[in-house]
Amino acid sequence: MDKYDVIIVGSGPAGMGCAFSLIEKKKDIRILMIDKNRYSTGGMRNDCKMNFTFPIGFPLEYWDEDTANRYLEEVTRFLKPDILPKSNIETYQARATRLGCSLLEIRQTHLGTDGGLALIKELQEKLKENNVELSLGENMSDIDNEAKVITTDKRKIGYKTILIAPGRQGFHFLQDMMQCLNVHYVDNILDVGIRVETRLEHYPIVKDYYDPKFYFKEKVRTFCTNSGNAHVVKEKYATARGDIWYSVNGHAYAADENRNNGLVNFAILKTVRFTEPLASGQEFAEHLGLMAALMGGGKPLMQRVGDFRLGRRSKAATFNGDLYDFKPSLTDASPSDISLAMPSKILRYIWSAMKNLDTIVPGILHPSTIMYYPEIKLYANKPEYRDDHFQVAESVFFAGDGAGTSRGITGAWASGIRASNGMMDYLK
Ligand SMILES: Cc1cc2nc3c(=O)[nH]c(=O)nc-3n(C[C@H](O)[C@H](O)[C@H](O)COP(=O)(O)OP(=O)(O)OC[C@H]3O[C@@H](n4cnc5c(N)ncnc54)[C@H](O)[C@@H]3O)c2cc1C
Repeated sequence: MDKYDVIIVGSGPAGMGCAFSLIEKKKDIRILMIDKNRYSTGGMRNDCKMNFTFPIGFPLEYWDEDTANRYLEEVTRFLKPDILPKSNIETYQARATRLGCSLLEIRQTHLGTDGGLALIKELQEKLKENNVELSLGENMSDIDNEAKVITTDKRKIGYKTILIAPGRQGFHFLQDMMQCLNVHYVDNILDVGIRVETRLEHYPIVKDYYDPKFYFKEKVRTFCTNSGNAHVVKEKYATARGDIWYSVNGHAYAADENRNNGLVNFAILKTVRFTEPLASGQEFAEHLGLMAALMGGGKPLMQRVGDFRLGRRSKAATFNGDLYDFKPSLTDASPSDISLAMPSKILRYIWSAMKNLDTIVPGILHPSTIMYYPEIKLYANKPEYRDDHFQVAESVFFAGDGAGTSRGITGAWASGIRASNGMMDYLK
């Protein structure tokens, strides 16, 4: 049986943060990183906007400002981001404040989907140079922490200490691991909302601030703005029973005048926190996703703002015509009525946020603007951690979006570093 000092499960930013931090701390350790995908590095393959300001990407249950800033310094030192310039922020902030909303000014960089791929290549080269073994297309299925052995679809592997960082899509897998390891957890928080797509001229703030972070009342916020060569995409999810549903998302390629489609997309999400007796936010999210899939004939839903305001569904025909002058970038969505599928309380808060946003940046409520539903974030596993380094059982550490310690690339990277500090105790 192969044996390593460290196994890192998941080659996303949490896994990378951990690997590079361990290498820096101790030269002669044997590290194996596995990923079930044949190509890796998790969510960095997507748009790769990186945020370097607390609290973006740092769940407050686990991070205070000083701690996050300390780790962000390390992330910045390693990734050396080119921070994007911003302008006219005070004007937008003043308008937001008058409405009881806020606009957070943050340090941001944007590599785009293609820039992200270049970074991934560089990271993989660096792992190799530092003798970290990377095994792609290898899926972990089980752990025996008494014997310090994991099982994958290829082999059994021994470890002294292990980081499990499987991201949002590893939500069910992580829950299986927690049951195996007797770790108590809750998953009572989720984000539900829509993705808005419109012409650049209807949301011109993106020329001043690439990914503006607005916060509205009732825990509603804008999230993950993409512009330039920007696309709405759908992500496939399966319930434990194997039923399929989709969440929408967005990404953009690096800025390139020739490929710019003149569109912008961003999410407006409401955070929902359940208390007793509902046990699982994940199951609630799945029901919402399945309802939308049912209405959309297996696809996510889309509706023009013009139709929404008139209280009528969008039809294929409403995606043509003089007012509706741009084609949706996600063609595989069904014209529909999102208010039939979305819980009214969530919809009410999101619509109210959109009206506020239209006052701060006039244009967003143009009749042609498209609202895609659902966009759901399933990162809210909250394991009971034993210490500040995200240890869940003797020598076993969790980190990243799936484990609830982050909500974005830089937060995940920082979580990986933080876990590595605890893992060092097992490597002396
Ligand atoms: C479309 C899209 C766009 C995004 N855009 C941005 C953005 O612009 N900026 C930003 O900050 N965040 C963005 N995010 C979120 C970001 O990708 C995540 O916050 C981040 O990747 C989380 O890192 P992670 O290491 O926790 O998990 P991931 O990056 O998801 O990595 C987890 C890895 O674990 C692997 N894995 C899972 N289960 C197993 C198993 N059983 N065995 C072996 N391997 C396994 C997966 O294949 C995956 O590669 C985006 C996400 C999506 C989906």
